[in-house]
Order: sequence, then C-alpha cells, then structure tokens
Amino acid sequence: MKIICIGRNYVDHIKELNNAVPDEPVLFLKPDSALMNMHLPFFLPEWSNDVHYEAELVLLISHVGKNIEARFAHRYIDQITLGIDFTARDLQSKLKEKGLPWEKAKAFDGAAAIGKWIDYKTFATKDKIAFHLEKNGQTVQKADSSLMIYNFAKIIEDASKYFTLKKGDIIFTGTPAGVGPVKANDTLTGFIENEQMFSFHVK
Ligand code: ZN
Repeated sequence: MKIICIGRNYVDHIKELNNAVPDEPVLFLKPDSALMNMHLPFFLPEWSNDVHYEAELVLLISHVGKNIEARFAHRYIDQITLGIDFTARDLQSKLKEKGLPWEKAKAFDGAAAIGKWIDYKTFATKDKIAFHLEKNGQTVQKADSSLMIYNFAKIIEDASKYFTLKKGDIIFTGTPAGVGPVKANDTLTGFIENEQMFSFHVK
C-alpha cells in the first residue's frame, strides 16, 4: 500500500507559501509507516520545532489501474475521508532551499492522519465536497473540492501515468489556505460537510 500526495492544489494555499502555480500536479509519496495510529495522539517529532497541519480530502482506491483516463477515474474511487498531511515546515523549507526531496519533512512516522472512511457514492456531485478543520474548537481551514486546481479525476489520471494504482492505495488531494503549527495539547477535529471524520490530540 502506498500514499500518494498532491502538493500545491489550491491557489489560496500556494499564495500563502509563496509558491508558483504548477502546470501539472505536484506529486510525492509517503510510505505505509507514515500512517498515524488514530487510536493514539499525534506525537510531535523531537527534531522539528514547526510541525504544521494540512487538512486534505483523502481518497481510497478500489482496484488496480494504470494510465487511467480522467473520464473513468471515478470508478477507481471507493471511499473518501478527511486526513492531515503533517509537515515539518522548518525542515521542508531547508530541503526546498537546497533543492532536495521533501520526504524527511512529510513522510515521517505518523505524518498521515486518516479519518473514518465514507462511501464515495454518498456524494451526488463530487466537485463540491465541503470540508473544514478545527483546532481547539476554532475553524482554521475551510474549503470545498471545487477550489482544487486539479480535480479527483485529473489527479488519478496524472498519478496513474507514473504509479500503478492498487486496491488500498490512498491519495491526499492537497490542502487549502490556513495551514499552521500544532503544539502539545492541541486537539484537531476534521469534518466533511457536517460529519466528523476524526478528532485527536497532539502530544
Ligand atoms: Zn499537503
């Protein structure tokens, strides 16, 4: 099982980090060891002083596929949830400056939090799925899937050119504006529409 992540997929978030709008999806991977144990708190790694939350719609892949055309992509999506792409922003900035890969900053143990799965078919229209993240009860990120530069179909088309998708693979579809740091004792709670997908503490 692999975790595919999309970077820079919401214009407002690209602006807040002073990045350029990409002319094709920015892809990176996390290993299965990055999956957070959702029965435990999120443990801050001791080597970073600036770990950020990034709330993202997350897709679960239903079956194997390669070179999937966008118009067939929805057949490959089984379930959806909200997740957090945890990012050690201080380390990521250093790596970006040097032109090095991001993995240490994004693929560390526990860096992929995933909420409860809900049936993708629940949503009549997939292009306006609303979500928000609360930190300590305050909404810090709020968006919907219509604001993505590359929609689910386009992401699957592009990712499956490079990586064969397999049953059980997970795709993080990018984060909107409002990313920020977490510290010990914070609580993060994520919602799709008004349904809670996860709630956990930071230690
Ligand atoms: Zn992200």
